[in-house]
Amino acid sequence: MALLLSFAATAGAAELERHALETRALLEPEAVLDALPAPLAAAQQRGDMHELALLYLAKANACRVIADWNCQREAGSRARDAALASGSTWLAVRGLIADSRGSIALQDFSRGEHLLGEAQRLLLQQPQADLSADILLAFSSLSYSLGKHTLAVEYADRGLAALAGGGDPGLRVRLLRNRGRAEAQLGLPAAAQASLDLALQNFGELHDPKLRAELHLETARLARSRNDAETQRRNGLAVLELAAGLKNAQLEGQGREVLGLAALNSDPARAVHELGLAVEAFRQLNQGRDELRALRELIPLQIRAKAPRAALELLIVREIELGREIDQADRAKSSADFDARLKYAENEIELAQLKQEAVLAAERAAALAQTSRLTTALNTLAGFLLLVLATFFVLQWRSKRRLQQAYDAYRDSEGRYRMLADNSRDLVVRMRPDGRRLYVSPSAREMLGWAPEELAEPRWELVHPDDRAPLHQAIADLAGAGGTARVTYRAQHRDGHYVWIEALAQLVIGDDQGKEIVYSGRDISARVAAENALDESRRLLLAVTDNVPALIAQFDRDVRYRFANAYYRRAFDLDPEDILGKTLAEVRGSEAQATVTSHIDAVLGGETVLFEGEVELQGRTYQFQSHYVPDRAREDGEVRGFYALTFDITALKQAQQELARLARYDSMTGVANRRHFDERLVLALARSQRHGTPLALFYLDIDHFKRINDTQGHGVGDEVIIEFARRLQASLRSEDLIARLGGDEFAILVEDAPSAAAAEMIAAKLVVAMHADLHTSAGEISITTSIGIAYGQPGLDAIGLIAQADQALYAAKRAGRNGYRLRAAKPSAEAEARLGLGH
Ligand code: GH3
Ligand code: MG
Repeated sequence: MALLLSFAATAGAAELERHALETRALLEPEAVLDALPAPLAAAQQRGDMHELALLYLAKANACRVIADWNCQREAGSRARDAALASGSTWLAVRGLIADSRGSIALQDFSRGEHLLGEAQRLLLQQPQADLSADILLAFSSLSYSLGKHTLAVEYADRGLAALAGGGDPGLRVRLLRNRGRAEAQLGLPAAAQASLDLALQNFGELHDPKLRAELHLETARLARSRNDAETQRRNGLAVLELAAGLKNAQLEGQGREVLGLAALNSDPARAVHELGLAVEAFRQLNQGRDELRALRELIPLQIRAKAPRAALELLIVREIELGREIDQADRAKSSADFDARLKYAENEIELAQLKQEAVLAAERAAALAQTSRLTTALNTLAGFLLLVLATFFVLQWRSKRRLQQAYDAYRDSEGRYRMLADNSRDLVVRMRPDGRRLYVSPSAREMLGWAPEELAEPRWELVHPDDRAPLHQAIADLAGAGGTARVTYRAQHRDGHYVWIEALAQLVIGDDQGKEIVYSGRDISARVAAENALDESRRLLLAVTDNVPALIAQFDRDVRYRFANAYYRRAFDLDPEDILGKTLAEVRGSEAQATVTSHIDAVLGGETVLFEGEVELQGRTYQFQSHYVPDRAREDGEVRGFYALTFDITALKQAQQELARLARYDSMTGVANRRHFDERLVLALARSQRHGTPLALFYLDIDHFKRINDTQGHGVGDEVIIEFARRLQASLRSEDLIARLGGDEFAILVEDAPSAAAAEMIAAKLVVAMHADLHTSAGEISITTSIGIAYGQPGLDAIGLIAQADQALYAAKRAGRNGYRLRAAKPSAEAEARLGLGH
C-alpha cells in the first residue's frame, strides 16, 4: 500500500540563495567577520539551521577573501552540516565546495577531491547549473595545483559549458581565469591572454576585488614571460591597490613581488625594495613557498648590488632554513604518497623513480646536515662560506628540480584516481572496456573479502549467473555509447555469500587517450534485504486484506483510490487494479460520493470517523458500516489521505430489527405486546395534547374463555386467541394499534375517532365481528367479547385513561357480557341516546 514518490529533478536555472553578508564579504571581509558572531549565535539559539547555513557560507566567503584557509574549511564544513539538517541540498553542496576549496588551498588534495565528489553526488539529487560549474571550477583549481594543466583547462571548459552562456558572472570569470592560468603553464601565451582578456571583459559590474586582483596577477605573470615590464608594473600596482582595500597581506606580497620582478632589469634598487617587502609580507603570513620564491629572486640581486655581508648572510640563512622546511614537508608528503602508492598502484612505472627519489632524499638529507654544520662555520668564515653557499645554492636547486620532476610525474599518473579512492568506502575500479583492470581500490577487501590484486583480472565467475549477461551488456553499451550507467548486480564474497552492489560507471578517456571505464560500487545488500522484507510483508498484508470480507481502500487527499482490496470485485464487480488512480466519484458515482462528503472532510481534517449507511445495488438494499482512519505521513504527521474499511452489515441489521420486533410484538398473535402498547400510548397522549384531539382506548376481554381451555384444551384456547387477534386486525384500520395485553385480554388505540359516539360505533362493530363462529381444530366455536371504552379529552394521562377503560370493561362484563361500555371525562350523552346499545 505504500506509495513510492519520485521527484522530478529541478532544472538548473533557479537562483541560489545568499545571505547579504556573503555578498558584503567580497568587499569588506574583516567587517563581515566581526559582524558574524551575533547572528550566528542567534540562529543557533533559535535552531534555525537554514539561516545558520547561510551565515556560515558568508563566513567561508569572508575567510576565502582574506586567504584564511583553515577558517574557510571549518566554516564550509559547518555550513554543510547545518544545510543538511535543514534539508537544503544546494546549501550543503556550497558548504562542501567551500570546505574543499580551503582543503585544496592547504594542499590537502585528497580531502579536497573527496569533498568535491560528495558535492557532485549530492547535486545529482537536485541539479543546479551554477553549482555544477562551481564544482568543475574547484576540480580545475585542484588539477592546476597538481600540475595537471591540460585537465585544468578541460574542467574549466566544462564549467563554462555548464553555465551555457548564463549563470553567475563571477563563476564565469573564475573559470576563464583558471583556463588562462593553465594555458600559460602549457606554453600557450596567446590562448592564455585571450582567456584573461575575456575574463576581464566579463568582469562587468562584479564587486569582487580579490578576483580582480587575481586576474591582474595572472596578466602580470604572462607579461613577464614575454618581458613586458610595463604591463607587469601596471598590473602590480592594480594588485597593490586592491590588496590595500581588502587588507589582504598575501595579495600585498604578491603585488610587491610583481613590481619587484618588473623592475629586475631596469631598476635593480627598486626591485630589491619591492622584493624585500614581498618577502616580509610572506614571512608575516607564514607563506613559506611564496617567501622562498621571492627570496630566490632577491638574493642574486643583493649579491650583484654588493649588499652588506651581514644582511646577505641573514637572507641566505633564511633561504636555507625555508628550503629545508619545505623539503622536509615535501619529503614527508612523498613518503606518505610512497606508502599509498605501494598500497594502491600495481601497474604504474614509477617504482623505479620512487626508489631514485628515496636515494635523492637521502642524499639531500646528508647535504642538509652538512649545510647546518657549514652555517655554524659561516659565523667565523663568512667570506669563504659565501662562496661555498653559492655553490650549494646551485646544488640544491638542481637536486630540488629533480625531486620535483619525479614528484610531479608521480602525481600526474597517480593522483587523480588515488585521491578519489583514498577516502572512499565504495569499491572504485578503473578498467578497460575489455575488462582489464587498471586499478582496484583497497575497499575491495572490506566489501568482498578479496585483495585488490586478486581482482586484477576480470572475474566473471564471481558475478551471480543471473547478473552476468545484463552486466556484460551494460559494459558493452557504455563502451559504445559513452556517458554514465547505473547497474545493480551480485558479486560473490570470498566467503561464498553474495553481495548486492549498485555501481555508477562512467566512460572516460584516459591519459593515454584510451577508453576507460571508471566505476564506483556501493554495497546495497542491506537495502535489498530491507526491500525484500518489505515486499514480503506487503504480500502478507495483501493476502490478509484480500481475504477479509470487507471493502478496504486507501485514498489520497484528492479522494483517489491508491489501494482497493479484492472484495471490490465481489461487491461491485470491479477489478481493484482498474480503479487505482480514479476518484471515488468516478468509481462509485457522484451521488454516492455526496452521501459521504462530510465524513471525508472530517477524516482529512484528522478525525477518525465511524458511520453507517444504506446503498442500492442491483435492486437490493444493503446496509453498511464504514470506518475512515486518517493516513498520516510518518515524517511530519500530515494527513495525506485516509483508509476506508467498509463492512456489509445488512444481515446484522436484519437480525437487530427482528430482535427489536420480537421485543415489541406478541409472539403468538403477531400484534403489539404490552410493552409496545405502553410506549405507543404515551406517544399518542402527547400527540393528543399537542393537536387538541381526543383519544379512544378500547379494552377487550373474551367472555368465559376459561371454559374453552377447560373443555377443549389449551391448544384450542390458543387457536381461539390467534383467530381473535386476526379478526381484530381485519376489522380495524392499519393506523389503529392492536395489542395483546396478556391472556385473553386485548387493547385497541384509536387516535382519530372524532367523538365518543364514533368510538362506540367501532366497539359495536367489533362486538358483532367477534361473535361469528371461529374455525378451530376442535370444530366451530362461538365466542363473545366484552369491551370497555375510555374516550379521553386532551390532557388525560395514561394511568387515568387505562383506569377508565378497565372500569368500563368491568361494567360491560357486569352488564352481562357481549357488549361494551364507555367512560369519558365528558360522557357523551348524545351518543348513548342515539345508539342505545349494550345496556
Ligand atoms: P370472563 O368472561 O370473566 O372474562 O371469564 P374468563 O373465563 O374469560 O376469565 P378470564 O378472562 O379471567 O380468564 C382468562 C383465562 O385465559 C385464564 C387463563 O387460564 C387463560 N389464559 C391466559 N393466557 C392464555 C393463553 O395464552 N392460552 C390459553 N389457551 N389460555 C390462556
Ligand atoms: Mg375472559
